[in-house]
Amino acid sequence: MGKTVSVAAIKDGTVIDHIPPGQALKLIYLLQLSEQRFKVTLGLHLSSSSMGHKDILKIEDRFLTEKEAHDVAVFAPNATINIIKNYTVSSKIQAKLPETVKKILICPNLRCITKQEKIETLFTVEEFKQKVHLRCFFCEKIFERDAIKEYNV
Ligand SMILES: [Zn+2]
Repeated sequence: MGKTVSVAAIKDGTVIDHIPPGQALKLIYLLQLSEQRFKVTLGLHLSSSSMGHKDILKIEDRFLTEKEAHDVAVFAPNATINIIKNYTVSSKIQAKLPETVKKILICPNLRCITKQEKIETLFTVEEFKQKVHLRCFFCEKIFERDAIKEYNV
């Protein structure tokens, strides 16, 4: 059955749709939503005709910047980011991979200096055979996106 799960519409804010299942929690951390006072509606593992399952995040009265939208792409490369004004979509930002990712990812290389010293991690993003790869700025090793863990909430 093509049952759709509707999440209440918001008046103003941002709706991030088509997030891979389970990734929305990471976006909450990335966008520091738990520390701010915006109303957030989270939908986990909703049915999606195009993806099977997906997560949705609705943030009231907060509008993502282009920079934030690019960071979102690290976790949800095909996310649709809708800016809502007065109940209608006023603009869409296509999630696009950023050139660099700071702080949020952990370098898997045990001998990397970021493991030994308190240095904020920095990766450059490279697309290789249509897959996201990240190169550690410090040890220069390249990793597939899925091999890299994030700092926990
Ligand atoms: Zn490294």
